[in-house]
Amino acid sequence: MTGLTQSQLAVPYLIAGVLFIMSLSGLAKQETAGRGNVFGMLGMGIAIGATFLAADLQINAYVIGSVVIGGAIGVVMAARVVMTGMPQLVAILHSFVGLAAVLVGISTYLSNQHAGVVHGIEVWIGVAIGAVTFTGSIIAWAKLRGSMSGTPLLLPGRHFLNLAMVGVTVALMVPFLQGHSVGGFSGVELLYLMTAITALLGVHLVMAIGGADMPVVVSLLNSYSGWAAAASGFMLNNNALIITGALVGSSGAILSFIMCEAMNRSIWNVVFGGFGTASGGAPSPSAAGSQGEVTEMDAASVAATLMDASNVVIVPGYGMAVARAQHLVNDLTRILRDSGKTVRYAIHPVAGRLPGHMNVLLAEAGVPYDIVLEMDELNDDFPKTDVVLVIGANDIVNPGAQTDTASPIYGMPVLEAWKAKTVVVFKRGMGAGYAGVANPLFFHDNTRMLFGNAGDTIAALVSNLRER
Ligand code: NDP
Repeated sequence: MTGLTQSQLAVPYLIAGVLFIMSLSGLAKQETAGRGNVFGMLGMGIAIGATFLAADLQINAYVIGSVVIGGAIGVVMAARVVMTGMPQLVAILHSFVGLAAVLVGISTYLSNQHAGVVHGIEVWIGVAIGAVTFTGSIIAWAKLRGSMSGTPLLLPGRHFLNLAMVGVTVALMVPFLQGHSVGGFSGVELLYLMTAITALLGVHLVMAIGGADMPVVVSLLNSYSGWAAAASGFMLNNNALIITGALVGSSGAILSFIMCEAMNRSIWNVVFGGFGTASGGAPSPSAAGSQGEVTEMDAASVAATLMDASNVVIVPGYGMAVARAQHLVNDLTRILRDSGKTVRYAIHPVAGRLPGHMNVLLAEAGVPYDIVLEMDELNDDFPKTDVVLVIGANDIVNPGAQTDTASPIYGMPVLEAWKAKTVVVFKRGMGAGYAGVANPLFFHDNTRMLFGNAGDTIAALVSNLRER
């Protein structure tokens, strides 16, 4: 059987590219996210299927075996991952893309060492980005899963070290392209040397970033992995890889900027910072801050307060995800709505630990889309709200972001929950959030604290309401 020629492959690759764009556009909204996923899978199916039909591909037991084993591992990993473990999974998947770019680069160079300057540049850039992505993603994965401390490693002169590694990587490309040797290294040896340097750069870059900034870093590495895939596409002369890589690269970069903006940080501050000492770890006593007495409330009193309210807003945060309380929160919503109350959700763009974290959890629990509102849609309504339930959220409702110029989150847009008549905060204790800063909201006169694991406290509240 004769396979598809390069020009015939352009048609399925173009269709796949269009499907990927439709997928990204679908994923932008909760209502269309499922459809977006289907488009993405369809596009990938077409791209892989067409590649298998390519005339110059020799399909053998190794190729089929790798696809079957790799596919099976992917299915098991995706089926077993819990929502809070998603950033780690994404990070490790990026490391695979980086490693693939390194291997593709080295093998294309070895199979055709005299393909010209442009090919040499493609190989050099592809391998460099791939190596940074590979090791950087492994460090991000280790920090996110807690196997490595989230504390940033801040070596003296670290910016100079990074600059020196980038400088050497660029400088070594010249003798590599000219076929000259440097210090006894030439040709593929120079490529290996550069791979080692950029791999070290990836480790050093991500080691210097605090565990708390890992989600932004993962999004940046997502972008790098896209560019690494695009570079592989140029090396292999594969349009599908170029299109997909460019889409992943640019969407990852845009997402990183959006996340930084929502946290009021600059991307350079994240990449070179050292902000955020550990991810969600125990806060220091000063972080929790002593600003007076908090007022506690039990589940029965919260139930009574809710019964008197007509307008309720729920603010879900990272703690709700950790407690996996979204289904109970949905039960609570149903009970309140059935008794004639207006219930809405206020979603902060960086609530949780990855973009869209809360929207996904609420959708999974069956919360109707039309009562889930973005911060800008709901912020003006807090003064007209009777009760706000802050469930495992902290930084995103911190009034200090508007008033405390010394706070690391000063300037971050927040949900103005404190303007409601009553605020009930569900959390285990006085622990700080991700940014590790004190939250004056807990000490406001109109704030009540319901301490405990959100899973338990919401369950108690739901059963109390059911008994009424
Ligand atoms: P926070 O991290 O600010 O606060 C979460 C709170 O949940 C903690 O104070 C903790 O208090 C409480 N908590 C933890 N576990 C439980 C539990 N089992 N039951 C009840 N409460 C619990 O979360 P937010 O969602 O408010 O804010 C998100 C933060 O993450 C922001 O600072 C944001 O910038 C950052 N971030 C988000 C990204 C995204 O894309 N979404 C990306 C990067 C950063 P206690 O220990 O007392 O229980």
